[in-house]
Amino acid sequence: MATAVPKKIKIGHYIFDVCNMTKDLRKHGEVFGVCDQTKQKIHIDVTATPAVLRDTLLHEIMHGVYWMFNLEDENKEEKIVSSLATGLLAVFRDNPEVAKFLMEK
Ligand SMILES: [Zn+2]
Repeated sequence: MATAVPKKIKIGHYIFDVCNMTKDLRKHGEVFGVCDQTKQKIHIDVTATPAVLRDTLLHEIMHGVYWMFNLEDENKEEKIVSSLATGLLAVFRDNPEVAKFLMEK
């Protein structure tokens, strides 16, 4: 049986709710997901194919990690990669069901 889309994801000490895309967010064009850091919500298009859904969820988690580490576009590659690696490892350890969902075939 396929693993369900996780409903909550702990990113650092923040708990993000995973919700469906809203009509408003869809208006911004061909987007499958949005990470709302101010409300700690990750919106994903649950009608997308499983492959797109997993890619989108990981993408939005990375936006959450980027935000948590206060990364900025001016940061250098090494700092960004180090922060993403540390942050993603923490997310997978804190949310084994998220890792399971992402790795499912
Ligand atoms: Zn993005």
